[in-house]
Amino acid sequence: MRSCLTTLIAVAAPTLCLGGAKRMTPEERIALVLRETQPLKFPRGERLPLYVWPALDPPGDEAQAEATLKALDARGIAACASWHPGKNQPQSLERALRVSALQKRLGLQVNINANACTYSICDGSEATAHLDADGKSFFDTSSEGRKLGCPFRLQHRYAAMKEQVDFFCRAYREKGVEPSFVFADWEIDGPIEWNGGWDAARRCTVCRKSIPKVGDFLEFQRAYRRVRSEIQRECYASVVLKHFPKALVGNYGVYPHGGWRYWYDYFETDPPEGCPVKMDQRAPYRPWPHEFEGCGYTFAMPVVYTWYRIWSWYDWPQDDYRWFYALLLEASAAGQAAPAGLPVITFVHHTTTSPPKEPDPAVKQFSSDAYQELLWHMLLRGHDTFFLWCPETEIAQEIRPLHETWAAALEFREFLDKGEPVTFGVPKQPGPVVSALRLGPRLLVRRTDFTDAREPVALAVGGKTVAVPRAEGKCQVLTLPE
Ligand SMILES: [Zn+2]
Repeated sequence: MRSCLTTLIAVAAPTLCLGGAKRMTPEERIALVLRETQPLKFPRGERLPLYVWPALDPPGDEAQAEATLKALDARGIAACASWHPGKNQPQSLERALRVSALQKRLGLQVNINANACTYSICDGSEATAHLDADGKSFFDTSSEGRKLGCPFRLQHRYAAMKEQVDFFCRAYREKGVEPSFVFADWEIDGPIEWNGGWDAARRCTVCRKSIPKVGDFLEFQRAYRRVRSEIQRECYASVVLKHFPKALVGNYGVYPHGGWRYWYDYFETDPPEGCPVKMDQRAPYRPWPHEFEGCGYTFAMPVVYTWYRIWSWYDWPQDDYRWFYALLLEASAAGQAAPAGLPVITFVHHTTTSPPKEPDPAVKQFSSDAYQELLWHMLLRGHDTFFLWCPETEIAQEIRPLHETWAAALEFREFLDKGEPVTFGVPKQPGPVVSALRLGPRLLVRRTDFTDAREPVALAVGGKTVAVPRAEGKCQVLTLPE
């Protein structure tokens, strides 16, 4: 196998397509992932693997795919096979099944990227359009130019959307191959309340009839998100779970939370006048309905990305704390709201995300060290594992710090498996940040400092207090006082 692995990694050599001149081949993407990561030092046990976008669809014949899957698994990394409906559906099924059947034979988890099966319920057809007072049809095209239709005129599309997922599920069941993880990245489709969404709803007679208080943003938003949950449940989650009741099924950005969203997706502009935001320095946090609960998902998929606009929201001279603070607010809300037993598999991205064509040079990249600290705090606040998304030009710089931290955390597997998070606090000023998992009288603690503060931090745990000393770049195991 050694020679096979050497061959796999050697493919990474001619990859450097910075500037985006040349697309990388799947072989090159996976070779880079393997080259930038090391086999695990501490066993993963029953813990979930690390998911990485560049390891989708391992290519090659059976022997090559097997070598790839084994090399990835030695690093704790899972490969996903993609389902593509449409005109190449039979070939897509054949390719995906080849990888999945191999995973089953090797005793690995079968992981599926079902994203393509979730597009597009808004197919741009007349029958899905909003209708104005004159009965004239129109679309909301304010989100990346997509023709978003009327949420209350999409129900006739459910059967066709379901079939896109059901086709693959039926074929897998017939072959006795059971997916254990199925994810999607369904975002710019279906009801969206941002950008021109509210304007469109107020102009539409069908929306107005379906949402009596359409002029109240929160009422409107709840109604739109209710339909959004229904679509995800009816056309995706329930279809997978009907065939594979034990599968983990989820979608990008859908997770339990505390009612607020601390980030903006790349296609979302500032909230409309009339949307009650919560201001924090210059950060307008948005109200967010409880969409997850109506979807029927079996895992949570928060998003912790370094969105470009975050840095400018705050005034602190510590550049890293601007990122760290916003991302920890989001991560903590998701970790705190997840009910016990619900896996939290979080999309992460470190390199400044979705910058404009000419970024302001004042906006500093989040440092790798602080990013790794953030990952530690997430693991100590209820996140189970991560899903790396990145463009292919960033694979090396993204996978290295992520895999290093995730793999190092396995040393404390007992705490990760059975420990309880003890705090979700996020300091309003740069200073020491503490997270911990409690297992009986012991605590696995991470303390990260953004100032020169030397004194211990008093951490309250169940009526007791423990002093947490400064400890750069490492975890501490502390014992609660008798
Ligand atoms: Zn409408």
